[in-house]
Amino acid sequence: MAFDIEMIKRVYAALPGKVEAARKALGRPLTLAEKILFAHLHGDQQLQNFDRGKSYVDFAPDRVAMQDATAQMALLQFMQAGRPKVAVPSTVHCDHLITAKTGADQDLAIANSESKEVYDFLASVSNKYGIGFWKPGAGIIHQVVLENYAFPGGMMIGTDSHTVNAGGLGMIAIGVGGADACDVMAGLPWELKWPKLIGVKLTGKLSGWTAPKDVILKVAGILTVKGGTGAIVEYFGEGAINMSCTGKGTICNMGAEIGATTSTFGYDDSMARYLKATGRADVAELANGVKEHLTADAEVYANPEKYFDQVIEINLSELEPHLNGPFTPDLATPLSKMKETAAANGWPTKVEVGLIGSCTNSSYEDISRAVSLAKQVAAKGLKTKAEFTITPGSEQVRYTIERDGFLNVFDTIGAKVFANACGPCIGMWERVGAEKQEKNTIVHSFNRNFAKRADGNPNTFAFVGSPELVTALAIAGDLTFNPETDFLVNEKGEKVKLDPPSGDELPAKGFAVDDPGYQAPAADGSQVKVEVSPTSNRLQLLDPFAAWEGVDLKGLKLLIKAKGKCTTDHISMAGPWLKFRGHLDNISNNMLIGAVNYYNEKTDNVKNVLTGEYGPVPATQRAYKAAGLGSVVIGDENYGEGSSREHAAMEPRHLGVRAVLVKSFARIHETNLKKQGMLALTFADKADYDKIQEDDVIDIDGLTTFAPGQPLQMVLHHKDGSTDTFQVNHSYNTQQIEWFKAGGALNIIRKQVAT
Ligand code: SF4
Repeated sequence: MAFDIEMIKRVYAALPGKVEAARKALGRPLTLAEKILFAHLHGDQQLQNFDRGKSYVDFAPDRVAMQDATAQMALLQFMQAGRPKVAVPSTVHCDHLITAKTGADQDLAIANSESKEVYDFLASVSNKYGIGFWKPGAGIIHQVVLENYAFPGGMMIGTDSHTVNAGGLGMIAIGVGGADACDVMAGLPWELKWPKLIGVKLTGKLSGWTAPKDVILKVAGILTVKGGTGAIVEYFGEGAINMSCTGKGTICNMGAEIGATTSTFGYDDSMARYLKATGRADVAELANGVKEHLTADAEVYANPEKYFDQVIEINLSELEPHLNGPFTPDLATPLSKMKETAAANGWPTKVEVGLIGSCTNSSYEDISRAVSLAKQVAAKGLKTKAEFTITPGSEQVRYTIERDGFLNVFDTIGAKVFANACGPCIGMWERVGAEKQEKNTIVHSFNRNFAKRADGNPNTFAFVGSPELVTALAIAGDLTFNPETDFLVNEKGEKVKLDPPSGDELPAKGFAVDDPGYQAPAADGSQVKVEVSPTSNRLQLLDPFAAWEGVDLKGLKLLIKAKGKCTTDHISMAGPWLKFRGHLDNISNNMLIGAVNYYNEKTDNVKNVLTGEYGPVPATQRAYKAAGLGSVVIGDENYGEGSSREHAAMEPRHLGVRAVLVKSFARIHETNLKKQGMLALTFADKADYDKIQEDDVIDIDGLTTFAPGQPLQMVLHHKDGSTDTFQVNHSYNTQQIEWFKAGGALNIIRKQVAT
C-alpha cells in the first residue's frame, strides 16, 4: 500500500557504511539493535560508545504510524507546524473507536456514524499533508504496519505502545506520544535514551500446543512488567530462525508488557517469506543484499554475555504452553500447573468467553491453528462450552480466512466475528451483563489483562494465552483443562482428546483482499481544506500558545499540591475522556481530577484562593485564567509516570498553569511539558516541598538569565506575611530554553518554516 521503496533503498544503501563506521568507533562487534540505532543517528552526531540507560541521543526514524485516538492531537499539533507535507512516510489507522457488540457490519456502521466527524477530520488532514489513511474496518494499526510497511533494519515510531510489534520484521519500532510523532513528521530529530540491551537466546523448536505467544508469556514471567524498562530485547538463536515472522511479531508486541523500549529479531528466511507473501518481494530482495547487516555480528551471538546487559535462554523444545493472569500479564502459569494454582488462588475456573485476534495474535498462522481445533468440535461430537469471538487484525487477514473457509468453521462453534479493530482489547466491548460486575473468567489472545480492560468489569479475571489454547479452553469451558493430558466428554458421553493444533504459516493460495481500506493522500494537498466545526465537542483546532513575556513570573497562585503518586492518568484521565482527545478545551475539564490534594486528601477538590471556596481543579484553574492569573502545580516523586500522552502537558498549558514543580519527573512527561512551553522544575532540596502552603503567592525568579545548568529561584509569600526562598533546578538545554521562550516547540518550528 504505497510503501516507500525508495526510502528503503536509501536506508539499505547507507547501512553497510554506517555499521562499519560504528563498529570501528566502538572497536567491537555490534548487536543488531546497535546496528539499527547507529544507522539512524540524526545529523552528524559523533559515533561513540553511548552510555546505556543514560545518554540522550537524537535519531531520525524512517516512518511514523498513528492510531485514531492519539492521531487527533498529533495531527492538530502538526497542522500548527506550518509544514506543507510530512517529512517522513506516515500513516493513520482507524481502529480504536469501534465498539464490539453485535458483529462486524453493524458495529462498523455505528462507529462510522458516531465518530464520523473524527474520521472525516483524520482523512482530510491525511489527504492534505501526504499521510496514508486506513479507514475504519481496514484493520489494527500494528497488523496493518506489519503487512505493509515494516522492513528489516528500519526504525519507526508510532503513537501507540504496541508499535513494537514491527520488531517481528526486524525493525526498531517504538511507541511515543503525539508530540514526538509531530516532531518527526516535521523533520526534527527524535530523542531517546540510549537503551540497555537484553539478549534472549532461543534454542530448540516449538511443537504441539506451544506457540510463539508462550515465549513472551514465559519471558514476562521471568522479567516481570518492569524488567525490560529502558531496554531493547533482541531475540536470537536457532529457535528464532525456526519461527514464523508473524510469531516473532507476537513476541515483540508483548515486549510492551515487560516495559521494554522495543524488541527485535535478526533478518531470516521467515521474514523473506512474509515479505514475499505480502507483496513485497522487492523489499526481501533488497534485504537479502545487506543481510549480514540485518543481524548481529556472529561473535555477539557466540558470546552474548559479553555484549548484552542481561541474557536469558529458553529451550523451545521444552517450553510449556502458558496462561498469564489474572489482572497482570506477568503472572505466568504453565498449563500443567493451572489446576493447583487456580485452586490455591480461588480463581473462577469456568471460562465464560474465549476471545482470539487483536494486533497481538491474528496472523493467518494463528487463525489457521485455532481453526484446526474448531474443526474438531463437530468431528468429535463436542459442543463448545464458552462464547467465542474473533477480532481479525486486518481486512486482508479477514478476507483471506473467509476465502479459505475458516470463518465458516468458526461459525459452526457459534463464534462472533467483530470488526477488524481493537474492540474488546481496549475496553470497546459492550459485553452483555458486564454491568452486573459478577466474578467471572475469560481467556484471550490479546496482550493486556489489567482489571476492567476488556469489559469494564473489575471482577472479570482475564487470562492471556495463545489463540490455539484460548480456542481449546473455550471448547472445554474450563480454565484448568490441559489439552495435552486431559479428555473431554462429547455429546454421546464418550471421552475424546483434542489433537494438537496445526496450521499454515502463510496461505497456500496467497493473501487476497477486495477493499483493503486504504486511502492514498493527494499528490498535492495544498488545496485540500481541513474542516473542523467551531461548534464541535470532539475536535478543536489549536491556537499557538503565547510566548514568554520576557520577565520573571510574579504573583502566581498554587493550583494544587499533589500528594503521592500522580501519573498521566491522574493528570489526564482516559476511559470516558477518550472521546475528547481531539478537543483540548473539553478534555481540559479532566485536568488533574485524579490527583490527591495534599491539604484535604481529596481528589478534584482544591481551594480557590480568590473566593476561599473549594471546588474542582479544572474550574478553579479556569477562574484563575479568567482573572489573568497564572498558577503553579506542585508534585511528588516520579510525577507524570505512565503513558506518553501529551494531553497531560497541554491541558495545564492551555488553562494557564505556568510551572510544574516536583520532587522528580517521569522523563517523557518532563519533556512533554518543555515541548509545550511550560516550566518543568524540580526541588533542589526535596524538603522544600513541605514549605509550600495552600494560600501562597509564588514568584519564579531568574528567568531573564535562564541558562542550562543554572538553577532558578522560587519565592513563597505566605499568608502570614513571611516568605520562603529556595532554589529550584531544571534540566533545560539551550534548545529547550528556546522552546520555553517561544511558548512551545511548535512555535519554533513554525518560525523556521516561515523564514
Ligand atoms: Fe492496542 Fe489492543 Fe488495539 Fe493492539 S488491539 S492496538 S493492544 S488496543
